[in-house]
Amino acid sequence: MQLKSKVLILFSVFTLIALIAIQGYLIYNSYELKQKTITIDARNAIAKIYNTPAVDSIAWLYRTDFLNHLESYKNNEISKQEMLLLLDEKAKEINPGFLKVYNEGLKEYGDDFDVRFKKIVTSISLTDSIGNTEILYPEKSIDTITLLGENFSQQEGMLINNSTWQKDHEVFYNNGSEVFNLNFKSSIFMNISNWNSLIIRELSGLLILSSLLFLFVVGLLYYSIQNLLKQKRVATIKTDFINNITHELKTPLSTLSLATKTLTNEHAKGNEEMTSEAIQIIDRQNTRLQNLIDQVLQSSLGYQQIQLSTEAFNGCTFVKELLADYCLTISSSITIDKNIESTGIPIIADKFYLSTAIINMLNNAIKYGGTKLKVAYLVDKEDSTHTFTIQDNGIGISPKYQKYIFHKFYRISEKNTHNYKGLGLGLYYTSQIIKAHNGTISVESATNKGSTFIIKIPIIS
Ligand code: ADP
Repeated sequence: MQLKSKVLILFSVFTLIALIAIQGYLIYNSYELKQKTITIDARNAIAKIYNTPAVDSIAWLYRTDFLNHLESYKNNEISKQEMLLLLDEKAKEINPGFLKVYNEGLKEYGDDFDVRFKKIVTSISLTDSIGNTEILYPEKSIDTITLLGENFSQQEGMLINNSTWQKDHEVFYNNGSEVFNLNFKSSIFMNISNWNSLIIRELSGLLILSSLLFLFVVGLLYYSIQNLLKQKRVATIKTDFINNITHELKTPLSTLSLATKTLTNEHAKGNEEMTSEAIQIIDRQNTRLQNLIDQVLQSSLGYQQIQLSTEAFNGCTFVKELLADYCLTISSSITIDKNIESTGIPIIADKFYLSTAIINMLNNAIKYGGTKLKVAYLVDKEDSTHTFTIQDNGIGISPKYQKYIFHKFYRISEKNTHNYKGLGLGLYYTSQIIKAHNGTISVESATNKGSTFIIKIPIIS
């Protein structure tokens, strides 16, 4: 792959990541905004419930009770702890009444929210007329007193209000009275337990839309990269084909040019031997050029364009004759081991095309290093086919290339296969011929272990 394409792909992936990051940031922002809106809405709902005469009168119940116990405390009738315990007990007593009012209010003002409420004591202090302050309940006390609402942990809650009940209170003793300034501080917390479902419900439209957009962009990018790679592959195949055909044409053309020069040479005139040799060369090269052009023209045919002229014949005799003729054209150093079954079941096929296909396989077997070939023909009763097997002991084909070798113009471009001439059309054309016969062609091979091509033509009864 060229550097430009790599940069383009990298850039697209980077842009996609940037888009995801921006989208994530925007969704997070919307999430935070929604969280704030929900908080404000919940606070408003609580304010509406809390600031009502009903709640106010409930609050006065513990306040009045506390003032009475304060009187007892100051008169040494009860201890400070007892006074606080009594405050806690009173709060517990009035709480069911408060929760009833609260839940009814929640139904009216905040139906959507699952919001819990609690009001706790923060600190209580008492200052006498000369300015001495007594802490009755210290700030950050370990035992919290819940005045109103439900008891949930501080971490779960969100502080929504701090309030102070300040009052000049006159305490009566046996021998007189004294005015104290009471400073009763409390805090209100809320806890929304259905946060996530609320926010997801609010943001679901946005989430669905952005997920769809994201999928669309990923799909588009995937499609574009696939297309780019396909175009690159086609461009490489085209360049390879042009290089191969130029290379293939060069040799016969330069031989033709030499032979023509010989004919026009003064010495050759009258020299019959030289003239005849030159003419033979011209004839051979002419045939070679013709074959090359035919190969390109024929191979461009798809299986639909191949016009078969079928006949029924004996497959066994057909293979035997074909091999006998073929052996005449190859070097004597190449051996062909035959295993031809006399089947008795005629094969219905186009003799010319079927022989072209088998010869293509044999030519490849020799071209790609085969010296000991094995050709077999049998009838496979199990899958009802005439099976032709062409096996060689050549360089073999690595499994990773096997699915491509039947593609048009495909040539394995590994270093050691560069030396073999070809146009990458032979196996494509063969596969088209076999397809036209409704048959199949497959390969079994491994690098340096030779290859076996298997052609199967259905038995037609
Ligand atoms: P060509 O031989 O012109 O390159 P083919 O279509 O006949 O084109 O073959 C495609 C590729 O398959 C070849 O480039 C070669 O690498 C591989 N190939 C085909 N037949 C064999 C074989 N018998 N042994 C090893 N490799 C083979």
